Amino acid sequence: MYPIIAKLLERFSDHLDTEAIIIERDALPKGIAPLREHLPEGTWLVAADSNTWEAAGAEFGAALDTAGISWERYMIEEPADGTKPICTDRRIESLEAALKRSEATAGIAVGSGTINDIVKLASDHCDVPMACVGTAPSMNGYTSGIAAVLSDGVKTTIPCTAPRVVIADIDVMAEAPYRMICSGLGDLMSKPVSNADWQVSAWLNDTYHSADAMEIIEAGAAMLDGVAPKLPQRDREATAGLTASLMLSGLAMSVAGSSSPASGGEHLISHFIDMTAIAFDKPHDFHGCQVGVGTITTGLIYEKLRALSPDDIDIDARVQALPEWSDYESVLRERFGPLFEAVVKHARPAFPSPDELRQRLTRLCDEWERLDTQVARTLRTGQSLEEELRSAECPTRFSDLGVERDRAWRAIAHSKDIRNRYTILHLAWELGHLDTWADEVLLHLADH
Ligand SMILES: [Zn+2]
Repeated sequence: MYPIIAKLLERFSDHLDTEAIIIERDALPKGIAPLREHLPEGTWLVAADSNTWEAAGAEFGAALDTAGISWERYMIEEPADGTKPICTDRRIESLEAALKRSEATAGIAVGSGTINDIVKLASDHCDVPMACVGTAPSMNGYTSGIAAVLSDGVKTTIPCTAPRVVIADIDVMAEAPYRMICSGLGDLMSKPVSNADWQVSAWLNDTYHSADAMEIIEAGAAMLDGVAPKLPQRDREATAGLTASLMLSGLAMSVAGSSSPASGGEHLISHFIDMTAIAFDKPHDFHGCQVGVGTITTGLIYEKLRALSPDDIDIDARVQALPEWSDYESVLRERFGPLFEAVVKHARPAFPSPDELRQRLTRLCDEWERLDTQVARTLRTGQSLEEELRSAECPTRFSDLGVERDRAWRAIAHSKDIRNRYTILHLAWELGHLDTWADEVLLHLADH
């Protein structure tokens, strides 16, 4: 194990389900011993899809056989149209049934985001521990205690137990489809702005903020130094750095007990693209690729916010401009169409009362310097984020994701209503600038 990872697992063992993270060459045979140590005896159910079975499942199964471990294979149902499976209630229930049928004592995911999420939730529901064998450094969810599921058409994250053991074979990770490697980097590149969102919310709303989680995030960020430009060559050391950084990002979420340290407005933009892709049959990309473009976007929005001064903010006018909830609800009904019922559950609790709004904006104006002294400490400019993503040949424009201008605009201006967590997008809306800033950011991205 990376010494820093081993140290953190030990230090935060009270908060973490994860006991071992193996990131190295030949990790598939080497990971068997920690699996034995941390999973109960009996039959383990190994879940994969056809791609991940080929990437690592078959080799992992052979290693289990060699070790004399009893296991069964479970293939996740794949869509007939050749697209990748997504984490839906139906797939979770189907795996739950299989876990019960085989009286499995543990679930093991062979795969990345979706397969892990399905196995995490199904194992959690059946009250058996889980572990995972990674197949791509594509997201930071390997070590997190949450899973993303598409429920009633809305992407939500649900708390669950995290894997006891995570195994990542560097050769497997480095040979993953390159877009998935881009996705992992994009997911991590959100750190500067998602942390700023987390700080802003703690400052303006007194929400929870964890110094421990920040420390882990910082340790993970340090592992990314110099990694981006080496990824296209599938450099093993760079891939290991990316993978380790993703694992730390997930641990930070586990320690914080929420995805807040690693998921702000940029993630809402990505989730909005996913939701509208599924509901209206539009294109989407890997989670982290979308997050990367969302991060450049929210990075630019922070620049616009910081260019303001408290004198530009007329608090009385802003409070007066706050619509009645019933009027806003009608707007949401029109905006979200078939997704309205699912969205409104999240939008309602996030909608401020006039008093709340006044309080928040007053604090913002009174303590404006905290934007520079506190929030900006983690921030990076849209341009520097973009340059780093570009050096790894990652997508940097909505058009690179197949998202046309109108949907990109709505992702920026309307995604704040899909989750009850305060971000720069909420603040920009409350200041009355969100629509204009969405226009300006898209113009900027089109011109540069
Ligand atoms: Zn993410």
